[in-house]
Amino acid sequence: MCERAELLRALDELLQPERFKDYGPNGLQVEGQAQVGKLVSGVTASRALIEAAIAVGADAIFVHHGLFWRGQDGCVTGWMKQRLALLLAHDINLFAYHLPLDAHPTLGNNAQLALQLGLVAQSQFGEQALGCLGQRANGQSFASPQDLAAYIEQALGRAVTLVGEQHKTLRKIAWCSGGAQSYFEAAIEAGADAFITGELSEPQAHYARECGVAYLACGHHATERYGAPAVAAHVAAQLGLVHEFIDIDNPA
Ligand SMILES: [Zn+2]
Repeated sequence: MCERAELLRALDELLQPERFKDYGPNGLQVEGQAQVGKLVSGVTASRALIEAAIAVGADAIFVHHGLFWRGQDGCVTGWMKQRLALLLAHDINLFAYHLPLDAHPTLGNNAQLALQLGLVAQSQFGEQALGCLGQRANGQSFASPQDLAAYIEQALGRAVTLVGEQHKTLRKIAWCSGGAQSYFEAAIEAGADAFITGELSEPQAHYARECGVAYLACGHHATERYGAPAVAAHVAAQLGLVHEFIDIDNPA
């Protein structure tokens, strides 16, 4: 059991949101009860996650994708009303950390994705240094992009879309979790042989074909489901909270 304010302080100290220019507020997005005993983590503050958290008696939810983003109209209607109504009716705190959760060097989405894929980062690239460039942790190369795609499919348990170069040995691998399509050009510039992210957009498919760098779209959700539980488990252990990760599957 801890105070809500203590949990916020621990998350802020760990993730240092003041270091990032983000698309939404990081920290406590919805205030619930002052005491927290059970923390549920998940990828997105969807209604399904909120309902599942209520079912297991959560006092707080920790997510990567919160409720509020730049460019929203600010009205509490439709899905927003439903999600907020559930949180407020059950007095549940909602904590959301976006880019700071991607970037944490050991517990963040990129670090935890690397762990899942047996990769080790050697440098960072791209806007706000969120992209990682490195190689296989065992020092070996992947024989081909197809080889890497098959390996990722096994590790993440889902299909991968591979575009571009199919037959060259891969030494330098770049990755950035989630919707990091726009990091592809910086990955090419940084000297990557292949780029791993969640989603693929139309222009990047052409860049991949034209630049000889393989592009692997492995799922936004699938590449971002490891950071939130890692951070929440860490903070829960620090503060003596019960933690549970609830994975709401998403085909995107
Ligand atoms: Zn994301």
